[in-house]
Amino acid sequence: MYTLIFATNNQNKVQEIQSLVGVDFKIIPLKEAGIDIDIPEPHDSFQENAYEKAKTIFSMTNEHCFSEDTGLEIEILNGAPGVKSARYAGDERNFQANIDKVLLELKGIDNRAAQFRTVICLIWKETTYYFEGICSGHIATEMQGEKGFGYDPIFIPEGDTRSFAQMTMSEKNKYSHRQKAVTQLFAFLRSQQSN
Ligand code: IMP
Repeated sequence: MYTLIFATNNQNKVQEIQSLVGVDFKIIPLKEAGIDIDIPEPHDSFQENAYEKAKTIFSMTNEHCFSEDTGLEIEILNGAPGVKSARYAGDERNFQANIDKVLLELKGIDNRAAQFRTVICLIWKETTYYFEGICSGHIATEMQGEKGFGYDPIFIPEGDTRSFAQMTMSEKNKYSHRQKAVTQLFAFLRSQQSN
């Protein structure tokens, strides 16, 4: 069995990814690894931010590890909030304030097309690999549902009429950006196991 450190403090991400792991991998979140740091995300691309997090943890532990960076990209806003998704309405990283800002900016606008993008950075045997997952959909006109986190109450994935926040975790995982990136990560790791 492979053990991997997941460079995040976000419990929601941990739960979503752990629910997708088979019995052949063990994912250890930072807290469980005894690491208590908030790694900055200063860059202009998901790749660079994900690399920053994975590299920081790899240099502290020398263990296989991965990180992910995710953002919401809204077509009419030229891809904003994008890499600034966490701090869209300010440095306090408040989910509700971020949602309010998006809803205000899209008020009265018909084109509500948007997508979530997740980039995973894996540092494996001292080599860096990237995996990307995209989930297309649109922004609702108001918040719907109470599950999930972040922008989930206003994001409706293509192929459904409910927001992510109205879905169970396994329903969200059927569509989600994170699931698509993680599926590629695990496929890669399984191919390594059989080498
Ligand atoms: P980060 O990848 O932790 O930097 O996340 C960027 C922002 O996107 C944060 O505000 C998160 O809450 C939000 N976010 C990340 N993943 C998801 C998701 O799956 N659903 C809704 N919001 C998300």
